[in-house]
Amino acid sequence: MNPFSYVRTYQAAEAVREGIGQGAKFIAGGTNLLDLMKESVERPEKLVDINRLPFNRIEETEAGGLRIGALVRNSDAASDERVARRWPLVSSALLAGASAQLRNAATIGGNLLQRTRCCYFYDTATACNKRAPGSGCGAVGGVNRMHAILGASDHCIATHPSDLCVALAALDADVQVTGPAGDRVIAFADFHRLPGDTPQIETNLGPGELITAVELPAQDFARHYTYLKLRDRLSYAFALVSVAAALRIADGRITEARIALGGVAHKPWRNRKAEQLLLGETSAEETLTRAAEALLRDAKGQGHNDFKIELARRAIVRALKQAAAATPQSQVDKRVA
Ligand code: SF4
Repeated sequence: MNPFSYVRTYQAAEAVREGIGQGAKFIAGGTNLLDLMKESVERPEKLVDINRLPFNRIEETEAGGLRIGALVRNSDAASDERVARRWPLVSSALLAGASAQLRNAATIGGNLLQRTRCCYFYDTATACNKRAPGSGCGAVGGVNRMHAILGASDHCIATHPSDLCVALAALDADVQVTGPAGDRVIAFADFHRLPGDTPQIETNLGPGELITAVELPAQDFARHYTYLKLRDRLSYAFALVSVAAALRIADGRITEARIALGGVAHKPWRNRKAEQLLLGETSAEETLTRAAEALLRDAKGQGHNDFKIELARRAIVRALKQAAAATPQSQVDKRVA
């Protein structure tokens, strides 16, 4: 590990001031950053500890939503009575991720900023445009079973590893940030970036900007939802494909539909045109399949991951069925019903 300095901060303004330099990195739970530092993938010159900042509360908003502080631990958010009852999609996605020990340490803000698990990104002996811009991409033409089928570029075909982010994308959450120019709100859909020719830039956060909270809107989809995660083993594995599905149904017809995919792109993937195909329809298998096919119309395999296209199609249909029937995927008994 490279030498670095460490500073503990107590106020947001102080953290922003300390975090503005090129080599500075904020640290909270450290569940991803410390691994990356040990592998010399991340080499910060300064760690700015933000654990003492006052962003560890969950509060209801005047608009009927919920604000989850960036420093709330994943396990605390998942078990919060308000989250579990009104936004169970968020609880479910959180419980689908990592292990209990990691969820106890990892924070909500850090979850949004975790980095890809592409094996070439972690291996400093190989080419990786994300780790070393301009060096190439070992995964293109390499071992790419876990990689993207949507939104990839010639420069990077990595996927975003978060489960929580897939649920937040489906719910149209907001990300609240503070920085040198003050506070601002970023719509979740605009928070993460596709790789393009700058895969090393993963979010639209500016220099020194710090996530303070994630805000869930009042519309909670508490009745018709599911988070379905398909992976190589039933726990402690990243998604091959995951689906956050949320529906509103009245008189047997779908009046609103949200479908977000994980494990398939550089950011949680949504296609609003595909969602609109469900409006006014019943949850008949042909309708759900049509929406799934529309969602995956531009999907492209990289060789080893070609299977993900069919897997995603089936997962979308299965998730929509679970959501429509109000029988969400259990994250305790992980078998797919
Ligand atoms: Fe690096 Fe992205 Fe290529 Fe993986 S897919 S090697 S992260 S550039």
